[in-house]
Amino acid sequence: MSLSVDNLPGAKRNRGGAFLLTESDPRGVFTPEDLTPEDLLIGKTAEEFMRSTVLPQTARIEQGDHELMHDLMCKAGDLGLLGADVPEIYGGLGLPLTTTALIAEKINPQQSFALTHEAHTVIATLPLMLFGTHEQKLKYLPRLASGHWIACFALSEANSGSDALALQTRAVLSIDGSRYLLNGEKMWITNTAFASLFTVFAKVDEEHITAFLVERDFPGVSFGKEEHKLGMHGTSTRRVILDNVSVPAENALEVGKGHYAALCALNLGRFKLEAGAVGGLKSVLAVSAAYAMQRKAFGKHLSDFGLVKQKLAQMCARTFSLESMVYRLASAMDAEFAPIDPTSPNAREEYHRAAEEYSIECNIVKVLGSEAYSAMADEAIQIHGGYGYTEEFSPARTWRDQRLLRIGEGANEVVRLAIVNTMLRRAKQGRFALRDAGVEATRALSRDEAPDAPFFDSFLDSALAASGGMKHLALFLLYQAVERLGVEFAEQQEVAAAIADTICAAYAVESVWLRCSKMSKENSRRYDAAILAAQSACRFHCEQAVSAARYALDCIPSIDDVVDWRDEPFTGLANLLGSLQRWEGSPAQIGRDLADRVIEAGGWPM
Ligand SMILES: Cc1cc2nc3c(=O)[nH]c(=O)nc-3n(C[C@H](O)[C@H](O)[C@H](O)COP(=O)(O)OP(=O)(O)OC[C@H]3O[C@@H](n4cnc5c(N)ncnc54)[C@H](O)[C@@H]3O)c2cc1C
Repeated sequence: MSLSVDNLPGAKRNRGGAFLLTESDPRGVFTPEDLTPEDLLIGKTAEEFMRSTVLPQTARIEQGDHELMHDLMCKAGDLGLLGADVPEIYGGLGLPLTTTALIAEKINPQQSFALTHEAHTVIATLPLMLFGTHEQKLKYLPRLASGHWIACFALSEANSGSDALALQTRAVLSIDGSRYLLNGEKMWITNTAFASLFTVFAKVDEEHITAFLVERDFPGVSFGKEEHKLGMHGTSTRRVILDNVSVPAENALEVGKGHYAALCALNLGRFKLEAGAVGGLKSVLAVSAAYAMQRKAFGKHLSDFGLVKQKLAQMCARTFSLESMVYRLASAMDAEFAPIDPTSPNAREEYHRAAEEYSIECNIVKVLGSEAYSAMADEAIQIHGGYGYTEEFSPARTWRDQRLLRIGEGANEVVRLAIVNTMLRRAKQGRFALRDAGVEATRALSRDEAPDAPFFDSFLDSALAASGGMKHLALFLLYQAVERLGVEFAEQQEVAAAIADTICAAYAVESVWLRCSKMSKENSRRYDAAILAAQSACRFHCEQAVSAARYALDCIPSIDDVVDWRDEPFTGLANLLGSLQRWEGSPAQIGRDLADRVIEAGGWPM
């Protein structure tokens, strides 16, 4: 069993969103170094399957050979890679998210296969797994866990993507109550070519959103042609047309609760996509390092140039930061899910709560992971120069494929707004003490005696101070925005998104600090590399936070009868913004040292 926050003695457990209000305890945080030999063995199985079976077929996959993709999914099912999240009683392995995140990571380097896998195992399967009845689960989950059947998640429509709940597909119950008649058209549905089961969202009585389990062979189900996409050429993406499809009433998942089912599946989907991105980033780093080490210009290897080293270091730092967040979050969510008995009568309610609890963190990881992937894929092309712009080398495909992650399963703009809106909703519900925390943050930042740009002897102390400072900053901004613009301030999207960026940065820096603190007893090259990556990552996230905070401060009106926070006595705020941008050491030297570790390891140095 994996180490989790609950079985560590003396560990404090913070729940969703609470990281902003409290200081987390490194002993209670899961890091990739905590993966057990059994976890690593499962990861190795996935890695070996990709190396021996999937990656050699990349050319055919990219030509859109869906029969092959189906065959590969069946083989993945034989190895247990499709049922890893499914409880054992329903034919799966019932593994914790810390382990299934590792599977996602290992699968990602072939992104079309990874998306096919994620659409099936996460967004298509979860509504049934979390919201189905025992009978529904007994009927369908074993087929999905084994790969005997592949599934789709059919929510989006031509006129409702981000605004998914505005869907037009309708379900009408027959007079005898035995069947629903479904009519509508779904758009962008991944896995359509070879799926046997469609989790279709429709409105009952024009308003009650409900998920239905629709089998491929039900009369009235038909499909559009394959979409001609920018990337992910190996995935099947088609329209699903429902023309008077008669669905047995027992195939409805909780009438009127479909929006929960969709949102919960998407929360976990966002998390899993970015757990996969950790593997994608490591692969981009390795490909970039290998090329830089063999290509020569001006009589030197590219890897000898400071500006190329800077790119490799930045890639490594952002990978380290994402990996730290992903495994911390995986374990926190495991602690929510582990106590739930999947067969208990309350299972559905408990699953609702568990899947929603960490939605803020899932959204943070979605934004930071997908944007790191975009930046790194772009830099990989730059390192490859003209060759990077051709299809002969992998960065062009990586760049096209990863681009989906900033759009799919919630566009990043919508996800940023959701971070702030969830905080505000929880504050209204009394689950998040925004008022007290905001007052305290304002008081702290207005103190005359606030220390001026403190320097610490050790990087860990500086990172801890930065993490605490950023939490104050985020709480201060949230509170001031509510005070000055009203509780509906998130409608001023530019301000809300900037505040979301400071929240994201706070979570990232704290996750990096927690991981390094836990590792600090190690006296190893791995730890040395971790500290270099952490130094670069903290500088990067703090710069992002300061720039977002300054933007928000310029947008929130400083009313004349209220003290302007840029003047006295808001010295604390000015000092904080300054200190977040002042780190010990030359960033160029830290970057070169980190890049040297990457070059020495031929990629990921930990
Ligand atoms: C390859 C691929 C596979 C997919 N697979 C599936 C699948 O399996 N199942 C499924 O149901 N769907 C799937 N989708 C659909 C995907 O989830 C949607 O494309 C996505 O949610 C965005 O919706 P949209 O395309 O309608 O964009 P729109 O909603 O039209 O948004 C366009 C842009 O407008 C901006 N925007 C939108 N709303 C706001 C707002 N409130 N505030 C600020 N800015 C905003 C954002 O920048 C956004 O990117 C897939 C899409 C693709 C491309």
